[in-house]
Amino acid sequence: MSLIVQKFGGSSVADAEGIKRVAQRVVETQSAGHRVVVVVSAMGDSTDELLDLAAQVSPTSDAREMDMLLSAGERISMALLAMAIHGIGASAQSFTGSQAGMITDAIHGKARIIDVSPHRILTAIEKGDVAIVAGFQGMSRESNDITTLGRGGSDTTAVALAAALDADVCEIYTDVDGVYTADPRVVPSAQKIDTISSEEMLEMAASGAKILHLRCVEYARRFGVPLHVRSSFSHNEGTWVLPSPDDQIKIQEGEPLEQPIISGVAHDRSEAKVTVVGVPDIPGKAAEIFGIVAGANTNIDMIVQNASTLGSGRTDISFTLPIVDGAEALAALAEAQDRVGFETVEYNEKIGKLSLIGAGMRSNPGVSYRFFRALSDAGVNIDMISTSEIRISVVTGADLLDDAVRAVHAAFELDGDATATVYAGTGR
Ligand code: ADP
Ligand code: ASP
Ligand code: MG
Repeated sequence: MSLIVQKFGGSSVADAEGIKRVAQRVVETQSAGHRVVVVVSAMGDSTDELLDLAAQVSPTSDAREMDMLLSAGERISMALLAMAIHGIGASAQSFTGSQAGMITDAIHGKARIIDVSPHRILTAIEKGDVAIVAGFQGMSRESNDITTLGRGGSDTTAVALAAALDADVCEIYTDVDGVYTADPRVVPSAQKIDTISSEEMLEMAASGAKILHLRCVEYARRFGVPLHVRSSFSHNEGTWVLPSPDDQIKIQEGEPLEQPIISGVAHDRSEAKVTVVGVPDIPGKAAEIFGIVAGANTNIDMIVQNASTLGSGRTDISFTLPIVDGAEALAALAEAQDRVGFETVEYNEKIGKLSLIGAGMRSNPGVSYRFFRALSDAGVNIDMISTSEIRISVVTGADLLDDAVRAVHAAFELDGDATATVYAGTGR
C-alpha cells in the first residue's frame, strides 16, 4: 500500500467550496487504496492579512508573537479540512506542526527543521484515518515555542514529512498545472515543463519562482523524495521534479530525459538593493560590511563592488537582500558607520531580478549574448549581473521587469501556442 503526501496551497483552500473540493480529492486518493497524509496552507491570502493586522496594531512586531499569530492560519485550514472529510463520511484527524513532530531551531520567522518525529501521524494513518498537518510551522525544543519556517514554507513541511514517512511521492497541489517556463501570470504563453531536474528547479526557486519553496527542493533532493507539482483544480499530470538520474529513468519509463538548453525564466520582486557609498578601498572593509549585515541575520544575494574612483581611495559596494530584512540591515549599518568609515547608505526597493536558468547553458557559449541582446532590444537597463554555471541573473528597475521577462522568454523561443491556465489565486 503506497503512502502519498499531498500538500494544498492557500489558493486551493481559499474558501468553504475549495476546502470541500480538496476533501473530495483526498478521499478519492484514499479510496484508490493509498494511505494519505495531507499538509495544508492558510486559506487564500490570510497569512498576508494577518501580517497587515499585525502592522496595524504595532509598527514593530515581536518575532515570537508573530509566529503565534501566523501559525494560526494553517490551524484554521487543517481543522476545516478534517470537518469537510468527516462530512463526506471518511475519517480524518488534524495535527499542528508540533503535534506532528516537526522540531525546529528557535529562530522565529525562518526556523529550520532539525528533527521530524511523526509518531502520531503514523498511528493515525495506520488506523485508516487521513492525517492532516498544519504546514509552515514547528516547535523548538530549546525554547518550547512555536516557530514558522518562512513564507511559502508549507511545501517544506510536506517534503520533510514525506522523507520521514518514506512516502512514495510528495504531491504539491497549487493553482497552476505545474512548473512553467516562466510565471504564467506574467507570461501567458509560458509552457508547462513535464520533468525538470532538481538542479534546475533549485535555481528556479532560488531565483524567485515561488511555485516551490527553495528549501523544499533542497530537502527533496537530499532525501530523494519525488515531487509532483500539479493543480488541485484539474486532474492534469503536472511537473515531476526528479531527485536523481536513476529516478529520471524510472519515472520516464526508460525514455531519456530530453534536455533543452534553457528550462525557464524566473523573476523576483521581493528584494531591495543596498549601496554602501564611499567605503575606504583597503583590505578588510568588505568583510566588515558583510559581517555587520550577517549579524542582522540577513541573506545577501547579489554583490557588486565598483572600481574605486581615481585618486579617492574609496569605492561603493552594492548588494541585494530580501525587503523584509531591509530595515534591520540598515539599522546595523548605520550603527557601524563611524567604525567602518563609509560615507552614506542608499536603499532602493523598486528593483526586480530576472534569471535565465538551464543546465544546457553550460555547454552553449551563445547564451549570454542572446540574453543581453534581448534585454537591450526591450530597452531594459541592467543594474547588476551575477551568474552560476546554469544561471544568469540581472537586476533591473521594477517597472520594466515584466517586459524584460517576456522579452527573454521570447528570445529563447520558450513561448508556446496555448495560453497557460491560472485557475485561482491572486498572485500576492
Ligand atoms: P500556493 O498557494 O499553492 O502555495 P503559490 O502562490 O505559492 O501557491 O505558488 C503558485 C504560483 O507560483 C502560481 O500561481 C504562479 O503565479 C507562480 N509562479 C511563479 N513562477 C512560476 C513558474 N515558473 N511556474 C508556475 N508558476 C509559477
Ligand atoms: N501560509 C504561509 C504563507 O503564506 C505558508 C505557505 O503558504 O506555504 O507563506
Ligand atoms: Mg507556495
